Amino acid sequence: MNTQNQIKQQAETHLLEAAREFQKCMQCGKCRSVCPVFKELGNEIYVARGKNKLAEKIVSGDLQITQRVKDAINECLNCKTCSANCPAGVSPEHVVLRLRWYITTQEGLGFFKALIFRQLIWRKWPITLAAKIVGITQRALFGIGPRNPVRHLFPLFGFSKRRFFPTMALRSGQSLYPEVVPAKKDPVKKRIGYFTGCAGNLIYPNVVKSVVDILTGFGYEVVIPKKQKCNGTPVLANGDYEGAKKLMEHNFNLFRQYNLDAIVVACSSCGMALKKEIKLFIEDSSELDDFTGKVFDINEFIEKNIDIKNEELGNLPYKVSYHDPCHLGRGQGINQQPRNLLKKIPGIDFKEMKDADVCCGSAGSYCITHYETAIKINNHKVKNIQDAGVDFVATACPTCVMHIQDNLLQHESPEKVRYVVEILADSLRAADTI
Ligand code: SF4
Ligand code: SF4
Repeated sequence: MNTQNQIKQQAETHLLEAAREFQKCMQCGKCRSVCPVFKELGNEIYVARGKNKLAEKIVSGDLQITQRVKDAINECLNCKTCSANCPAGVSPEHVVLRLRWYITTQEGLGFFKALIFRQLIWRKWPITLAAKIVGITQRALFGIGPRNPVRHLFPLFGFSKRRFFPTMALRSGQSLYPEVVPAKKDPVKKRIGYFTGCAGNLIYPNVVKSVVDILTGFGYEVVIPKKQKCNGTPVLANGDYEGAKKLMEHNFNLFRQYNLDAIVVACSSCGMALKKEIKLFIEDSSELDDFTGKVFDINEFIEKNIDIKNEELGNLPYKVSYHDPCHLGRGQGINQQPRNLLKKIPGIDFKEMKDADVCCGSAGSYCITHYETAIKINNHKVKNIQDAGVDFVATACPTCVMHIQDNLLQHESPEKVRYVVEILADSLRAADTI
C-alpha cells in the first residue's frame, strides 16, 4: 500500500473511532444552549448535535462531502464548551477535528494550506522574516488608525477593513537570548525549557522577556531551544494531520535532548498541544509520559513552585479582570492559578467579569477565516469587560489577546489586554526583585 493510501486508511480509522464517540449522543440538545457559534448562527448543523449527525452520515456513506458540509464542519471554535457540558460525555470537537482530517485526505490540502503548513511554518525562517517586514511596514505607517487609507488594502489579504492588528516584533523573542539563559540567583534551582510558541516569539516578545526574567530572577536556568517550531495545533485544526505530526515529533525529540526538569509555555494552545494533543501523534511510551508530565503552563508553574513574598511585589494601582482562554480552562483545567497570581499583586483591584470562561471567539485561525461571526461572539466579551469597569484584562493566550484587543479598539473602549505573566513581571520589577 502506498503512503497516501495508508494515510487515507488511518484517517478512516480515526473517523470510525470518532463514530463511537457520537453514537453516545442522546440528542438532548444541551449543547445548543452553550455553543457560542450556535448562539450567533442558530442553525442545527452548527451545533455539536448537528455535527455528530453529519459525521454519522459521512461514516455510513449517506452523505457526500459538499461545500455546505465543509462549511458546517469548519464552524467550530474547538472551545470545548459542548464537551464540558455534555451529559453523555461526547467530545464533539474531537469528531470535528477528525472529520477535517478525513476530508483533507479525500480532497487534498490545497495549494495555500500546503505552502503555509508544510513549507513556511515548517521552515520557520520565512514566517520570521515576514513578521519582521510587516513590523517595519506597520511602524513606517505610524500605527494603522481607524481612518488610515491603508485599511482599503486589507481585504486583498482576506482581512476586514475594520480590523486592528498587533504590531509585529522587529526582533523575535527567541533572538533576544542565548539558547541557555543562566539563573540570576544562586543556588540554581532547576533547568527549565521554554516553548515560546510562534506568537510569543514573533508578536509578543515582552511575554518571552517576562517569563525569562521571572524564572531566572527566582534562580532557574532557562533553556530556549532555537530549533523549536510551531506546536502543530493550527495545522491540526485545519485538517493537516501529517503536517501536525511532523511538528509534534520534531518538538518532542528536540526538547528531550536538553535534560530538562520542566517545560513551560505561556500560550494556552501550545500547552494543551504539548500536554494532550501530542498523544494523538506519538505512540504511548514512558518517554511520552515523561515529556507530557514535564509540561506546565507558566501560571501553573509559578503558582506551584515559586513562593513570591509580598515584599517582593511592587504596587500596581489597576483594576484588572481575567478572561479564561478555552484551552487553559477547559483544555487544561487551569482557572484559579492566574487569578491567584493577579490577586497577590499589591494595589490590584481584581474584578471578576461576567462569563469570564465563555469563548471570546478568537480560536486561532477561526478569527481569520470567520471574522464576522468571531466578532459577534466577541461583542459579548467586550460588553462584559466594559461592565466590569477595569483598566486591564489579563489572559494567557495570544489569540485571545489579539482578538479581544481588536474588538475593544473597534468599540473605542480604553481597556488594554495583557498576559498575566507580563503584569506579574511589572510588579516584580517595580520592587526590584527581578
Ligand atoms: S449535549 Fe451531548 S448528548 Fe446532548 S445533544 Fe449535545 S452532544 Fe448529544
Ligand atoms: S467546540 Fe465550541 S464551537 Fe465547537 S461545537 Fe462545541 S461548543 Fe460549539
